[in-house]
Amino acid sequence: MDFCLNHDRCIREVTDMAEAVCAAQGLRFTQLRRRIFELIWQNHGYVKAYDILDALKNDSFSAKPPTVYRTLDFLLEHGLIHRLNRLNAYVGCSHPQDEHNCYFLICNVCGVVSEWHNDEVASIISKTLSRNQFEVKHISVEIEGKCQHCMDTKLNESID
Ligand SMILES: [Zn+2]
Ligand SMILES: [Zn+2]
Ligand SMILES: [Zn+2]
Repeated sequence: MDFCLNHDRCIREVTDMAEAVCAAQGLRFTQLRRRIFELIWQNHGYVKAYDILDALKNDSFSAKPPTVYRTLDFLLEHGLIHRLNRLNAYVGCSHPQDEHNCYFLICNVCGVVSEWHNDEVASIISKTLSRNQFEVKHISVEIEGKCQHCMDTKLNESID
């Protein structure tokens, strides 16, 4: 899901999934949780906490930073969003109903983040872990570079 053609549909789909995840666990998808979730999903890029705080300031929500961070923690804890550690930013999870280890391709040019899952990568990581007897808390793989769309754009520019 890089450059989608119908982002309204994306938002509807991920919001439906988020509602289902919350309902299945008896959790409330409150207005603030929904609003912050939608802010993170405003596009397929990543969002920083201060962008969310800024956007909420213009809303009728008068959410204080601690409340916003608590809401982000809630969304993280239930797998509805992911945190990109190196960028200290958040990105929506495209399939929160599945248990998975994700890795991320982050475009440094346009900021789009693609989430990938790969059983082979997962199995190599788990083999390495069992060899080293390391107790895992969280696995995160973040690859930065240039996405296909941005490579193509550059190509077109040099032709012109
Ligand atoms: Zn989309
Ligand atoms: Zn995910
Ligand atoms: Zn890009």
